[in-house]
Amino acid sequence: MDFSDLNKATANSFNKQKAIIKKVLAGQSVYCPSCKQLLVLKPSEKTLKVECLKGCTDIQLETE
Ligand SMILES: [Zn+2]
Repeated sequence: MDFSDLNKATANSFNKQKAIIKKVLAGQSVYCPSCKQLLVLKPSEKTLKVECLKGCTDIQLETE
């Protein structure tokens, strides 16, 4: 089997998630691609979390 396409897709979505987090951290309004709700930043001790109200976007970034 050839996994290169799968790996590419994963890398793409990871880069997209990083881009979204960067925008939110920069204070920009970013909307969920699925439900079009505003994404909110929820920082906690060890992770930064960006999520929408409905939970279809749920991105976590470790800060350590
Ligand atoms: Zn959503």
